[in-house]
Amino acid sequence: MKANCWYGKTQVRVEDVPDPQILNQGDAIVKISSTAICGSDLHLYNGLIPTMQRGDILGHEFMGEVVEVGREVRNLKVGDRVVVPFPIACGKCFFCKEQMFSLCENTNPNAWMAEKAFGHAGAGIFGYSHLTGGYAGGQAEYARVPFADVGPIKVPAHLTDEQVLFLSDIFPTGYMGAEMCDIKPGDTIAIWGCGPVGQFSIRSAFLLGAERVIAIDEVPERLKMAEDGGAETINYRNESVYERLMDMTGGRGPDACIDDVGMEAHAPAMIEVYDRVKQAMMMETDRPHALREAIMCCRNGGVISVIGVYGGFIDKFPIGSVMQRALTIKTGQAHVHRYMRPLLERIENGEIDPSFVVTHTMSLDDAPYAFDIFKNKDDKCIKVVLKPDWNGNGAAKDDSYSVVH
Ligand SMILES: [Zn+2]
Ligand SMILES: [Zn+2]
Repeated sequence: MKANCWYGKTQVRVEDVPDPQILNQGDAIVKISSTAICGSDLHLYNGLIPTMQRGDILGHEFMGEVVEVGREVRNLKVGDRVVVPFPIACGKCFFCKEQMFSLCENTNPNAWMAEKAFGHAGAGIFGYSHLTGGYAGGQAEYARVPFADVGPIKVPAHLTDEQVLFLSDIFPTGYMGAEMCDIKPGDTIAIWGCGPVGQFSIRSAFLLGAERVIAIDEVPERLKMAEDGGAETINYRNESVYERLMDMTGGRGPDACIDDVGMEAHAPAMIEVYDRVKQAMMMETDRPHALREAIMCCRNGGVISVIGVYGGFIDKFPIGSVMQRALTIKTGQAHVHRYMRPLLERIENGEIDPSFVVTHTMSLDDAPYAFDIFKNKDDKCIKVVLKPDWNGNGAAKDDSYSVVH
């Protein structure tokens, strides 16, 4: 089969690789109809995640048709159309029973690596380095899905791939970012980062009852999409985020702040240069500008929700501000399994149509080009869907977008 494989910093190649096989009787093989590139794939692409190996198959957002199941699979059969969550969960361990699926104790065969890095291991994740299990990803024609009775959710035929694909990650992830804010009626939520996950945090915050959402980014088309979702916006290149937020909230600050940026934040000032130098010298693995600013801006007693990805250590962390002002920090890889069914219901009820985020649809063969434009935010690229069977002309959904082939 064809698959998009990692070959080092900013190098991916679509290659012929062996087809996946059933290895355990709880596995299913899924023939992929649509797969997406995630912002967190860029951390791999940019060489910031350790334990990647040349030839690793990328991709953790995918869906398709079940073409083979192991003998012990009960909930799925050949022909089912499914979306697969990015964390792999056994469904039986302590954390799965607590609905904390991204912390499953049984799905990371390289738990020892993660224990060295983090003290304890989390769940295995598709296509996301050997630290999270070394599972082959879904930017491919086929994928092996372990614990197939636990993860994949069947989706109805009347919904398009683009409407349900993002149940695999960015919709539940953005939603959990908003849910962690404990939103009450009248709340103002500030969101750093208007990438795909940020876009879903914006819409989820409104679904959960926020009165105002203020979204912060610098990329015009992302800010426009945020405004289309009902957010007020701040372009941090043009003005002080802190001062503007205080203006907008009567000097008190937002009730909760979501970091939808993570480890590769850009910042307008010297602090970014400082963080880049530290990161390059391996003295600091993550560039946490958005997180620092979110903490400083949040109102006293508010919540900081960290859903952007971090992988290591930061410095200049304003713990004094957190402690003195009674802030609560919540974080975690999304427990996707917990959210798939309720969010699918919201899609079926017409409360949200996740396809709004797609700017580009291309063939799987175009993955290297797609990574390049997504990384550089060229061609107004916000979210790319790759289709192994695609033979269209790469047209985006809107005439203002063009795709070159
Ligand atoms: Zn993702
Ligand atoms: Zn488990």
